[in-house]
Amino acid sequence: MKPDYYETLGVAKGADEKTLKSAFRKLAMQFHPDKNPGDHEAERRFKEIGEAYETLKDPQKRAAYDRFGHAAFEHGNGFGGGGFGAAGGFADIFEDIFGEMMGGARQRRTNGRERGADLRYNMEVSLEEAYSGKTAQIRVPTSMVCEDCSGTGAKPGTQPVTCSMCGGAGRVRAAQGFFSIERTCPSCNGRGQIIKDPCAKCAGQGRVTQERSLSVNIPAGIEDGTRIRLTGEGEAGLRGGPSGDLYIFLSIKPHEFFQRDGADLYCKVPISMTTAALGGQFEVSTLDGTQTRVKIPEGTQNGKQFRLKGKGMPVLRQPVMGDLYIQIAIETPQNLTRRQRELLEEFEKISSKDNSPQSSGFFSRMKEFFEGIGE
Ligand SMILES: [Zn+2]
Ligand SMILES: [Zn+2]
Repeated sequence: MKPDYYETLGVAKGADEKTLKSAFRKLAMQFHPDKNPGDHEAERRFKEIGEAYETLKDPQKRAAYDRFGHAAFEHGNGFGGGGFGAAGGFADIFEDIFGEMMGGARQRRTNGRERGADLRYNMEVSLEEAYSGKTAQIRVPTSMVCEDCSGTGAKPGTQPVTCSMCGGAGRVRAAQGFFSIERTCPSCNGRGQIIKDPCAKCAGQGRVTQERSLSVNIPAGIEDGTRIRLTGEGEAGLRGGPSGDLYIFLSIKPHEFFQRDGADLYCKVPISMTTAALGGQFEVSTLDGTQTRVKIPEGTQNGKQFRLKGKGMPVLRQPVMGDLYIQIAIETPQNLTRRQRELLEEFEKISSKDNSPQSSGFFSRMKEFFEGIGE
């Protein structure tokens, strides 16, 4: 007794097309003979799964099956079931499904043409370069189309010939157990063509390795991790296939004075305790190459930020500039001389609560707070 097609695929009777397909896909992967060499049970399951899907994906056959069960396909009733292998139908759905799965890999081979590989180039730029943008010259070792044979791989003046084993398809069909399966043609290795007289320069590969100089435009405002794609600048394709792409991965070197957060920059500026107390001013260098004066009012506290508008980084492809934040870090005097110590001690003596409202009485305020909670 044949198992129920829906049960075979592990789906409900009313399952939609998508559910069927994904169930089939999963099971076909699991029981594929290539994954289970020599396992006859897996082979049997694989065949069952294929048969069930072949039937259920066709609305007409499915309707017949829903109505009559397996009997619908017996005694030559016109639906022509069970024709896997012989008819090659199964190999075709198999191709459908797995062709989709293998996607890119499969597309690479068309008449022996192969897309070139994508290349990655890591480039480090300074914050200044990210600020102004630049044109960088890079040297990329890459394979290029062989000029002698124009990428065909055949000796100049000759042409590759169509493979006689597969007729140029690159794949051959072979019977395996109950069904037939397609394999890469062993004669031409899937290229579909055979080069009788290989080009001497590239040994029949159709491409040669060379170092190439490329100029890359780094736009102003790029961020760490930006990826620039140069279409068609990757490795040359094989035998006339399209070139891959070149990806430039940019990283930005840490800066000595500026930290970056998006378009904004931060600069920690240490100032002396006396400047903080008395007020003062200083000049900072900014990425636009100018100096900007920053005024410090008297009584400036540690961590205070001053914003320099428009002195940050440009925003990529936008006429907008970030800001530069000056973060004040007050430096406590060290290595005091005897005289300095005397002065500070005297200063301490004549200080009042108003000189340091935050620290005056802090501990008694804290104690009171926690005693309050306790009650
Ligand atoms: Zn060549
Ligand atoms: Zn072939």
